[in-house]
Amino acid sequence: MNCYECKKRIKDFLNDSMNSKTCIEFVEHVKSCSECMEELSIEFLVNEGLKRLDTATSFDLERELDDKINQTYSKARFYKNFAFISSFAIFIVAFLLGLFLSTLFSY
Ligand SMILES: [Zn+2]
Repeated sequence: MNCYECKKRIKDFLNDSMNSKTCIEFVEHVKSCSECMEELSIEFLVNEGLKRLDTATSFDLERELDDKINQTYSKARFYKNFAFISSFAIFIVAFLLGLFLSTLFSY
């Protein structure tokens, strides 16, 4: 993912409306690109800061963004691995079924 795509997707990331694959690419990009990370931080601070102007509770947005990035990333990786494992399982089942059917017909 390049910087242009990454910046375009910041809003999707903040709204959690991103698929696993894009999400992984996005997080990997911001972690290695200080410019996009800064852009993401600013968007996040503005977004969350505005939402919480009314509440008097103190908050550590810097840390929250870090948590959000890490959580979203591990969730996306989990779903991606899960999709991989389940397609692999389907392949095994189909293979065994094929084997089973071929033994049925060979007698
Ligand atoms: Zn970038």
